[in-house]
Amino acid sequence: MSIEEYLNFIENEQCDLLVKANEIRSKNYSNQVTFSRNYFVPVTRQCRNNCRYCSFSNSDVSSWVNLSQFQLHLETAKKNNCLELLLTMGEKPEERYESARNFLESNNFSSSAEYVARLCELAIERKLLPHSNLGVLNYEELSLLKPVNASMGLMLESSSTRLLQKDMPHFNSVGKDPEKRLKTIENAGKLKIPFTTGILVGIGETWEERVQSLLDIAYLSKKYDHIQEVIVQNFNPQSNTLMKNHPPPTEEDFLLTVALARLILPSHVSIQVPPNLNKQRIVKALTYGANDLGGMSPVTSDYINPDEPWPNEYELNQYLKQENFTLIQRLPVYARYIKYLSSELKNIINQL
Ligand code: SF4
Repeated sequence: MSIEEYLNFIENEQCDLLVKANEIRSKNYSNQVTFSRNYFVPVTRQCRNNCRYCSFSNSDVSSWVNLSQFQLHLETAKKNNCLELLLTMGEKPEERYESARNFLESNNFSSSAEYVARLCELAIERKLLPHSNLGVLNYEELSLLKPVNASMGLMLESSSTRLLQKDMPHFNSVGKDPEKRLKTIENAGKLKIPFTTGILVGIGETWEERVQSLLDIAYLSKKYDHIQEVIVQNFNPQSNTLMKNHPPPTEEDFLLTVALARLILPSHVSIQVPPNLNKQRIVKALTYGANDLGGMSPVTSDYINPDEPWPNEYELNQYLKQENFTLIQRLPVYARYIKYLSSELKNIINQL
């Protein structure tokens, strides 16, 4: 279908869109809703970009998690029965901050990707399954990280280059150039890395740009068959950012985007909505085509949206049961893609 046909769905055939999206979800996923029990380690808040909605990044070198702190995190993750270790950080901090270069050098690492690869090895030693999201990475960096990650991630956010212009959300953020982000997702496909990506809804993109972003992801998914899930994330303004007064998307726009994603992406690709940003509309999002709630942690917070705690797993399970959905824990790698993993990671999975 063309962009115009998808836009016509939004403008004139919303009921059809909803019915079709719900049919695809129910046929492929029945009433199962998946999530991954994870432990979130923000490796550093230093970042080369300047996204106007970001409350995560800062210039403080003390935000780096050092090797001994990391061991404590692993301990806590194990104690809380987490299977996934989510490692995320600001993008390529060493390009911008001398203090980041010094931190890496003093620990004998030449790049942040190399440092995270070591952290992943330590996590694997404790039988945790790493999922790293370090922003834009080149082919060599992805090759380094592939053997030590069960899956990796990078939000496309948007295919729109307009959002890079002055006063727009991604101004002065070189890593938010969609060409660079699509290249990272494509290289992950060439390397057969099970991958998570997604779009950020409501930062000033048009419907046409939203559809184009989903079509770009669908293209790479069909070409390389490595994308296991696509996050449809609603923009959530943070009070200490330049976009604190920018309104979040309306519920209707958000849900219609979920339905569009379900229609545009291949049916084996999960559509994920963040449960902490959509507490009051999880069931609605499911009926609009979502089937996954992503990573939820019993112990760490969502460092990107620190005011939005994860739902309690037990309570969510009870609630979904009443609504005739079944909450199921999954791995950070989907069954279809376990064949892509290193033997070390496969061994951990086989022993679960
Ligand atoms: S890339 Fe991520 S961490 Fe860096 S400024 Fe943008 S949103 Fe913040």
